[in-house]
Amino acid sequence: MTFENLSPVLSDALTARGYEALTPVQSQVSEDQAKGRDLLVSAQTGSGKTVAFGLAMGDELLEDGRMPFATSPLALIIAPTRELALQVSRELSWLYAKAGARIATCVGGMDASKERRALGQGVQIVVGTPGRLRDHLERGALDLSALRVAVLDEADEMLDMGFRDDLEEILDGTPATRRTLLFSATIPNPIVQLAKRYQKDALRISTVGQDRGHGDIAYQAVTVAPADIEGAVVNLLRLHDAETAMLFCATRDNVRRLHASLVERGFAAVALSGEHSQNERNAALQALRDRRAKVCVATDVAARGIDLPTLSLVVHVEIPRDAEALQHRSGRTGRAGKKGTAVIIVPYPRRRRVDGMLRGARIEAEWMDAPTAADVRKRDQERLMEKLLTPVEHEAEDIELAQRLMAERTAEDIAASLVQAHRALMPPPEDLIDNGPRGRDTAGRPERGERFERPERGGGDQREGFEDSVWFRLNIGRHQNADPRWILPLLCRRGHVSKNEIGAIRIGPKETMFNIPRAIADRFAEAVIRSANEDGEDESGVAITPAPDGPTYPPRRDKGGHGAPRDGAPRSTLGRAPGGDRGFGDRPRGPGGPGGKPTDRYKPKPFGQRSPRRPSK
Ligand code: AMP
Repeated sequence: MTFENLSPVLSDALTARGYEALTPVQSQVSEDQAKGRDLLVSAQTGSGKTVAFGLAMGDELLEDGRMPFATSPLALIIAPTRELALQVSRELSWLYAKAGARIATCVGGMDASKERRALGQGVQIVVGTPGRLRDHLERGALDLSALRVAVLDEADEMLDMGFRDDLEEILDGTPATRRTLLFSATIPNPIVQLAKRYQKDALRISTVGQDRGHGDIAYQAVTVAPADIEGAVVNLLRLHDAETAMLFCATRDNVRRLHASLVERGFAAVALSGEHSQNERNAALQALRDRRAKVCVATDVAARGIDLPTLSLVVHVEIPRDAEALQHRSGRTGRAGKKGTAVIIVPYPRRRRVDGMLRGARIEAEWMDAPTAADVRKRDQERLMEKLLTPVEHEAEDIELAQRLMAERTAEDIAASLVQAHRALMPPPEDLIDNGPRGRDTAGRPERGERFERPERGGGDQREGFEDSVWFRLNIGRHQNADPRWILPLLCRRGHVSKNEIGAIRIGPKETMFNIPRAIADRFAEAVIRSANEDGEDESGVAITPAPDGPTYPPRRDKGGHGAPRDGAPRSTLGRAPGGDRGFGDRPRGPGGPGGKPTDRYKPKPFGQRSPRRPSK
């Protein structure tokens, strides 16, 4: 087939590549009104934007369907990351192969002297990252005096990454007659300023929302208890069993932790973050490409520019900082017309924030619970049945072995062993704390009246150590699905205490109170500070603060909740202390918590006085 408005050599290249139609951004840059003009294009990643600027450059570059001989470059493409630059270079290589283009790629982490040699041998197209291109320019290896077209790819990313100076220096070294194509997922003010300075009468093109890349991603928001995040990741990976999945964390520390934990569970996972060398990065990407690894745990920056055609699942393990980051991360899947799923893991306290982010970005997400271990096992069975029932041609040797097995065992035994052997290859799913078989309301929250509270004393025996205790407050309550089953592990993790060192947990509508023996209260408070961010919260939005007055609301009575409390207290004692012990509601008002000495009120150190902070977040 031929593509309208394109030079035959480019049209042939697209046909040979198997493309059947242009994507919206490719059509728009090829229209007559765009010819020869500067373009300011907002297009999502995955929209076919690389081929789009490849096509747009055609008019400047081709002479009778061929690339002219050139002693210095005619086209320059600047991209934010090494991977993106290499990917651009690969795409332009097949697009311009028949036209006889010579392309040099100049990126950080590669041998600069080789690049200098390539530049010296006469190339028509140069693709590179800002820092490396600037180096070549300053050393005189890159001559931009004959440049006809300059392309800035993912310009917003480049400005975000602090490349403004490099970009300006490079563009200032090009002829004023050049054509400038600016591609950016978003057009915030700094991009508008850049466009004003370096473009003339630019045609504004926006295909955001029309691109297949965007439309082919199904968004899911999975609500979980903060302590269940990792379990939810495990179950999602197991349920989807994606050929390639990418998991996003906010910090390199969290990438390291999650990666280690997944590898330990038996997932074939690699990690990408700022702490990895170029060699480690290459090795990780290669493992994903040749399918030795199926899962990639990454930070936003480290994952930029990565194009893995088999990537069908993106999991936002930690909530992206804004809607743009959400779209950037999600855009790693749903590429080239394929379907992808982007799952946002939403700890209960963050529900509203994510809801707002999705609405702001006009993304319709399906809200749901995390898959349970039972869901995963059911899907496993379906997959196993399908796999084992697929007809296969057997080797004679295998048939002989099968006959020997049949002579020794029943068919049922052999089939069961086969199933067991297959299952053993898969990491086991996780039992999540908070999506047991209880009823749920329409928003996916456990039904009211089904939760229990942790009593002050468990099991009828007075627990020692809580006669003199100190109260703390959590900024989450029933409205955020607060539940001792996930609060307990969270408190242990944040405060570096064991669950036996936590007394009562009292859940109010919007806050939760709990008490800690006075003897360890300072140590607990210190650990809480160290495990919090600047806002005093952890990653899931939970803040812990001293509450010297203790709770002011009465304890809820359990109405037949599900399961026993984690401290083993029988259900009959739920929500109240046994033996007619003072409940919180009956607590004498005034200083000191229940059991606290009224005159000896705990004076916590203000949380503002920070001890040494946790290392890099
Ligand atoms: P990009 O937005 O440039 O990252 O491209 C995303 C993917 O879409 C790349 O793998 C391209 O090779 C592929 N692609 C680009 N244009 C088309 C098209 N017209 N038809 C099918 N696939 C395409």
